[in-house]
Amino acid sequence: MFNINNILRENIKNLKPYSSARDEFKGEASVYLDANENAFGSPLNKDYNRYPDPLQYAVKMRLSEIKGVPARNIFLGNGSDEAIDILFRSFCNPGADNVILVPPTYGMYEVSANINDIAVKRVNLTEEYQLNLEGIAEAIDKNTKLIFICSPNNPTGNSINREDIETLLANFNGLVVVDEAYINYSRQKSFIQELTEYANLVVLQTLSKAWGLAALRVGMAFASEEIIAVMNKVKPPYNINEASQQLALEALQNVEQVNGWIKETLTERDNLVLKLKEFEFVVDIYPSDANFILVKTTDARGIYNYLVEHGIIVRDRSKVELCEGALRITIGTPQENITLINTLTNFK
Ligand SMILES: *Cc1c(COP(=O)(O)O)cnc(C)c1O
Repeated sequence: MFNINNILRENIKNLKPYSSARDEFKGEASVYLDANENAFGSPLNKDYNRYPDPLQYAVKMRLSEIKGVPARNIFLGNGSDEAIDILFRSFCNPGADNVILVPPTYGMYEVSANINDIAVKRVNLTEEYQLNLEGIAEAIDKNTKLIFICSPNNPTGNSINREDIETLLANFNGLVVVDEAYINYSRQKSFIQELTEYANLVVLQTLSKAWGLAALRVGMAFASEEIIAVMNKVKPPYNINEASQQLALEALQNVEQVNGWIKETLTERDNLVLKLKEFEFVVDIYPSDANFILVKTTDARGIYNYLVEHGIIVRDRSKVELCEGALRITIGTPQENITLINTLTNFK
């Protein structure tokens, strides 16, 4: 049985978190002389002289409406990359614990593990880019704290079989982190409705992709109240700045616009796949549930360099294990996609 106390680091269990001025007085007052802010104002036309809400209540309430998850089950990070780092710092003892990664997958999990001095056990995805459940079961030991599953997966674009993730959730006594950065583009449904079912589930999402707010750095983690409480204790007190909170809240009113872009992206993705398949140098295009496609080619480096010369940048993933010969191409605007296809027509 999963029990958060069995995986929490001892120093974090005993941690007395920093108590900010805003933590110590939560009511309304007319004169605030408790936080050493500049009482005269900010040189900008906004109240930026005041520290932001440490727990981002307004943004979480809006996210709660959109996602159908209570605000107490939501953590906000300075990008989901911060949430990843905080999971390591909360649950993994440096130099002792390990995590399981399933390459090819998002690179930040390994970087974050290395920064935190946490051993990485790699269990490659199968040829179909699905989980090797037996391999994962063999790799798990008493010091395995986290398993990261990216679905839809970056860089392969496919979703991971839901039943396989459920098998892990039901059998692993550490945290299963399901990174859904691309969920808005997916045919699969999100795992956030399963939080009541699995106490060891953490779902990551972000405003950086479909929501079009990569510059604001706002990422979300959805998990049990207990897990969220730990993450809030470990995070820097004011991790989401006031400008990002205000702008995120404003942007979260524009659900219709975002849904429109998602639909258009999916249409463009289908078109792009059809056009790319006609090129002789395209060997295979993997089925995508995301806003990018992984394209296997006969000459990834050559095509990459050729496109750079023509001012078009794609991602060369050909050196990644199981992605030999592959380029990762983000779906652009209709005009950008036409430019890409026209340029490729003259390759070689
Ligand atoms: C882009 C991406 C993220 C987003 O990270 P942010 O820090 O929220 O911008 C997270 N996970 C995966 C797999 C991604 O591709």
